[in-house]
Amino acid sequence: MIEKNDWRLMGQEGYLKGVTLKYDQYRQYSEDWDHDHCEFCGEKFTFDENPENLHEGYSTLDEYTWICNNCFDDFRLMFEWKVSTQ
Ligand SMILES: [Zn+2]
Repeated sequence: MIEKNDWRLMGQEGYLKGVTLKYDQYRQYSEDWDHDHCEFCGEKFTFDENPENLHEGYSTLDEYTWICNNCFDDFRLMFEWKVSTQ
């Protein structure tokens, strides 16, 4: 059970509550941007082969915000996320 004071919660409900997410490979957002971090726990997403990093997960439809599988499972009920099947 996730508590409201979970260390990963830092006001994300202000912009992630009820949004639609999609599951995909991590992609480069722009030329000078080579990684992202999970919006909740900070795990690193990259598109290299490094097995220590994440290479797929949930993102907002604009691929600006990324959420790892673990945090998705933990917070999906609290945040009422919808998942796009496209
Ligand atoms: Zn995470």
